Amino acid sequence: RQWRRDVWFGRISKGTTRVNFNIIVNGYGAGKAYNLDEIYMLETVKCKNPYREKRVFIDAINNYVSDLYEIENKMQGEGKQIVAAHRYLVSDHVVGNEVFSRIKLNSETAGYAYIKVIDKHIAELKKSHNELFKERIADFEDVKYQVLSRIYNKKFKQNFNGPTILIVNEVLPSMILNLSKNVKGIIARKGSTLSHAAILVKEKGIPLIVIKNINIKNNTFIAIDTQTKLIDINPDADTKKAYQTRGRINTYKLNDRKKTYLKNFNLQLNISGPEDFLQSSLKHVDGIGLFRTEHLFLKSPHYLSVEEQTLIYEKVALKSFPKYVNIRLVDFKGDKSPSYLKNLDLNEFLFFGPLNEIYKEQIEAIIRANEKYGNLRIMIPMIRQIEEYHHVRDYMNLVLDNLNRVRLTPALKLGVMLETFEAFENLNDYKTVDFISIGTNDLSTELYLTDRSKITDYVYHTKSMIEPIKTISKFSKRHNIPYSICGDLASNTDSFSKLLRSQEIGFSFPESFLNQAIYLINTYVVEKKKSKDLRDKKQKTKK
Ligand code: PEP
Ligand code: MG
Repeated sequence: RQWRRDVWFGRISKGTTRVNFNIIVNGYGAGKAYNLDEIYMLETVKCKNPYREKRVFIDAINNYVSDLYEIENKMQGEGKQIVAAHRYLVSDHVVGNEVFSRIKLNSETAGYAYIKVIDKHIAELKKSHNELFKERIADFEDVKYQVLSRIYNKKFKQNFNGPTILIVNEVLPSMILNLSKNVKGIIARKGSTLSHAAILVKEKGIPLIVIKNINIKNNTFIAIDTQTKLIDINPDADTKKAYQTRGRINTYKLNDRKKTYLKNFNLQLNISGPEDFLQSSLKHVDGIGLFRTEHLFLKSPHYLSVEEQTLIYEKVALKSFPKYVNIRLVDFKGDKSPSYLKNLDLNEFLFFGPLNEIYKEQIEAIIRANEKYGNLRIMIPMIRQIEEYHHVRDYMNLVLDNLNRVRLTPALKLGVMLETFEAFENLNDYKTVDFISIGTNDLSTELYLTDRSKITDYVYHTKSMIEPIKTISKFSKRHNIPYSICGDLASNTDSFSKLLRSQEIGFSFPESFLNQAIYLINTYVVEKKKSKDLRDKKQKTKK
């Protein structure tokens, strides 16, 4: 079992030690270790200027509160109340005063004082026997992370002034969204392949591995290579130099002749922002198959206006032109929902749910952005009823009417992500959609009631998903609907090969998997041709 092959050799200095690690994202990277948790804990306990620290704290709180206000104003009903409750928690005066007095009396830094105060409240909640109180622990943790990331944001970035291997407890999407280019790899103490954070890391093309009990000092040189299954910690000077000059390896070099095999396949890229792909990669693919837009909202320090969104979508449209871009409407959930939406039931009818205004603005922005290049398409996530499709289509027409530009804008294609139990059970309702994207990450959760962030047996995951994928792809082929698989199964070496062998032809994956996908397709086509030639030969000799 692939997932079980997780005990690899790690080299520490000149000796060799066994280190257990799970590979979450493949790749190669080397640099100096940096413990992300340490910036909170060790470096900055005492301060020189308490007034400055007080200011830093107030700015961080104000910044977060005004973000929350903006979102709150865009919501109705229960969602609005939840955001408001979260905002009260952030601006709690008891907490604020405790932080101020620690800064003043103990000359503590804003971050350190805040951690101490929040941790104290969390400890009190933990002691309580009241279940409701216990539930609030997660809220406190969340607020703590949000406020701390605002206090430390600048510092966090400045600290990476060379190739860095980040060491964290767990990768959170908010860490990855603003990641410095100097981060060449990540080691986490826990994590799994299908978590949204892992997906984001894959899109950034850097390796991510999990080592349960990692304990490495800052600035120790580390090299991670998931292909040789080796991590080198503090190697001798020559080895270190070799690593530093190696650059990113590319084992799957392509030659032009082989590329022609691709024409029968529909390859696309998954991105979370315009920066996630090179224009030169576009020549191998049909277009951008999945642009996960919720990350734009998580990344931005404030709520994105229609104008700001329009500019981003225009940028992607221009960069991809003349290839298409499937812009997926925001899909907030799990670890990629902003903290203020965490408790909201977003499984209901998406378009008319609490995020209605957000969807409307997003659709308007996409339509406006499409006026320039005409290569944008809209994709609905987590669709459960075909009525949602019609409502989105109606709203698109309304926006076009209002803009009075029906004739100027080429009709926008509207597709769906097939990833819910209900949609899978009622495939026939989806005969007239413009395109289909199979979201295997969510579909597996919906069909088998598993938790996607806890899937550990990838071989089993692949096996259980082949049949549902076949059902959807057969349906799409029968009705001439372009389709592709965009879940993580499309960017895993083993499952990709299995899908090829079960006749799948449409795949959407992060750019970091592109060369490997082409390599696997070429090998597969050559193999198939060989066995066909052999069969033909045998038949001839029989005759
Ligand atoms: C999926 O569910 O397979 C998918 C591609 O969407 P996401 O991972 O963003 O939920
Ligand atoms: Mg999904």
